[in-house]
Amino acid sequence: MAEARRLDGAAIAAAIKEDVAGEVKALAAQGIRPGLAAVLVGHVPASEIYVRSKVRTCEELGLGSDLLTPPATVTTEEMLALVAELNGRDDVDGILIQLPLPPQVNAKRLLEAVAPEKDVDGFHPVNVGRLQTGQPALAPCTPAGLIEILKRNAIPIAGQNAVVVGRSDIVGKPAAILLLAENATVTICHSKTRDLPAVCRGADILVAAIGRPGYVTADMVKPGATVLDVGINRLTTLEEFDRFFHGNTRREELFRAKGSTLIGDVHPAAYAVSGAYTPVPGGVGPLTIAMLMANTVRAAKLRRGLL
Ligand code: NDP
Repeated sequence: MAEARRLDGAAIAAAIKEDVAGEVKALAAQGIRPGLAAVLVGHVPASEIYVRSKVRTCEELGLGSDLLTPPATVTTEEMLALVAELNGRDDVDGILIQLPLPPQVNAKRLLEAVAPEKDVDGFHPVNVGRLQTGQPALAPCTPAGLIEILKRNAIPIAGQNAVVVGRSDIVGKPAAILLLAENATVTICHSKTRDLPAVCRGADILVAAIGRPGYVTADMVKPGATVLDVGINRLTTLEEFDRFFHGNTRREELFRAKGSTLIGDVHPAAYAVSGAYTPVPGGVGPLTIAMLMANTVRAAKLRRGLL
């Protein structure tokens, strides 16, 4: 059997960013500069890294950006007031509220307070509904990135059996809706699914969005299938490392140097069975920020009736 093709997410993300930079330039000629407002509450180290890289990417591509940093003690009412202000600002096309929020903040109320036309994360019920009904919408970034990976690698979607493992509102459900919109025959699996391996083996396109390291094993993958591994899990002990990467000397060197390594929801041995797969890291991950940029430009155009 032919060797599995590694789908390089970083290269696809770079191509998307180049497209976005081109669109930003074209909009600048019309006096429009799409802008993203990122709200980062308190000091969550992982969130700080994500948000800073989002802001940096805006700067690289010529988008406007504004970073708002309310303290960890902020109240729901104060956050609602901030969102209302951002909703009203003409230089803000996209509003991103970095999750998780502190426990005293009602995240659901807040996400619903974001104007749907500025909801670049695609979490607002109005965008969820629009996506479901095939109307112009802002789609969640990670699932939208999956479609880009397939399309930009000329992997057919229409008529294919797509199995999505995971039904979260952020990844699994919207990924399934987007695949359906591209005319795949879609099955959604979750923790109560009976005989998950058998269902997965029916997949031409298998999306793993579970949050469990190496959960999808080689016997669950149809030879030649496309495997999109959304999971991001960190392994920190040598015992865990050996369970998945025993004998991988290059990876072990990196693991020993850093004290940890990332693994997806798909077992490395399962990639080998596939026809094409996204690695972790470097597969789906890089697409998320690229799609956020694309969504901000899309929001700017939709809001001005340019799409
Ligand atoms: P959630 O925890 O919200 O959802 C996990 C889903 O997996 C649930 O629907 C759950 O089922 C299902 N599940 C859990 N265990 C099993 C099992 N044994 N068999 C079948 N299904 C199971 O996670 P997210 O969707 O937010 O994230 C999934 C993964 O993707 C995580 O590793 C996360 O880090 C990563 N991620 C990566 C992103 C990226 O940019 N690449 C962005 C967002 C997430 P049930 O509903 O029944 O509980």
